[in-house]
Amino acid sequence: MKKRETFLSYGKQTIDEDDVAAVVGTLRSPFLTQGPKVEEFERAIADYVGAKYAVAFANGTAALHGACFASGIMQGDEVITTPITFAATANAVLYCGGTPVFADINADTYNIDANEIPKKITPQTKAVIPVDFTGQPVDLDAIMDVAKENNLIVIEDGAHSLGATYKGRKVGSQAHMTMFSFHPVKPITTGEGGIITTNSKEYYEKLKLFRSHGITKTPYSIEQGDWYYEMTDLGFNYRMNDIQAALGLSQLKKLDGFLERRREIADQYNDLLADVPGVIPPKQLEDTESGWHLFMIQLDENVLSKTRRQIFDEMRAANIGVHVHYIPVYWHPYYQELGYKRGQCLIAEKWYKQALTLPLHPKMTNEDVNFIIRILKNIIGT
Ligand SMILES: *Cc1c(COP(=O)(O)O)cnc(C)c1O
Repeated sequence: MKKRETFLSYGKQTIDEDDVAAVVGTLRSPFLTQGPKVEEFERAIADYVGAKYAVAFANGTAALHGACFASGIMQGDEVITTPITFAATANAVLYCGGTPVFADINADTYNIDANEIPKKITPQTKAVIPVDFTGQPVDLDAIMDVAKENNLIVIEDGAHSLGATYKGRKVGSQAHMTMFSFHPVKPITTGEGGIITTNSKEYYEKLKLFRSHGITKTPYSIEQGDWYYEMTDLGFNYRMNDIQAALGLSQLKKLDGFLERRREIADQYNDLLADVPGVIPPKQLEDTESGWHLFMIQLDENVLSKTRRQIFDEMRAANIGVHVHYIPVYWHPYYQELGYKRGQCLIAEKWYKQALTLPLHPKMTNEDVNFIIRILKNIIGT
């Protein structure tokens, strides 16, 4: 069987000369960190998503940690999230001493099922962290309703969904806090980086404090003199630097173009996979527009004569960088040792066993997509 000459990864950055120039410009400026670019980037992201505030972090995981801190999550608190996410989502709760509680997914959207959330609420529940998995927005109105009734904070993990829309509005303005990641595979990149958007001044201030050692100028320190500052909380050094922010500003200008290309590729995949027995293409929630970070299909082993593992290996042998996102978080040995049992989210576990990620990034050509589907059909024998 034919094979690609080079490996086609499932996702990667799109960097042009204008991005290079933006970074070089900052390298030649007086500030490599704590300069003007970070605030400029924060303002640009906040405006783009339609939020009042944004606080940039060294990476998305640090940003989630900040959001959990700002929510006041601590020992004894429970936080409901999805098992089908990158481990960092639940880990952020553990960093604060809280307990992640996993609610099952919706079999169509692969996102947390809003109807499962109330079943997991206890007097200890403090927050919910829904994830816009693959770039598809969660049903946020339903989740915000449950949160309101139960006095919970909603931290949306939008690592996949910058630029995606829910009921006509961009993700990032409707949850109490929303996290975006700028890792190179994500919608835009800063190398490493993350951000929280929020409309709450209180969260905004807590996030800024947490990001920089818990150090601030208090009224007392201002009275003392310009050198004096006070550490009022145990924060971290989680700052984004100006080199990253300069890259982010340059990337943000091109985000809508990236998203348009991602949507074209997703449409092409959907057309080519419309009637392939045993292959289940992804379904979309009504009134949402996905950012198409990932294109994930399910391989029905009851219909196909090969296993997911066989298909995965044969695609990889053809130099196609298929992947599987994600292993249910509580299956990881660390979570198993904490006492999480397998079998607690049955839809997620069944879904995981038949899931496959096909490559999707803006630089792929239509011919790349055609080739991937030709190979897939060849492997499964249709
Ligand atoms: C990438 C990712 C994160 C973490 O972001 P980093 O910037 O890599 O730290 C968190 N949640 C999800 C769903 C992600 O995909």
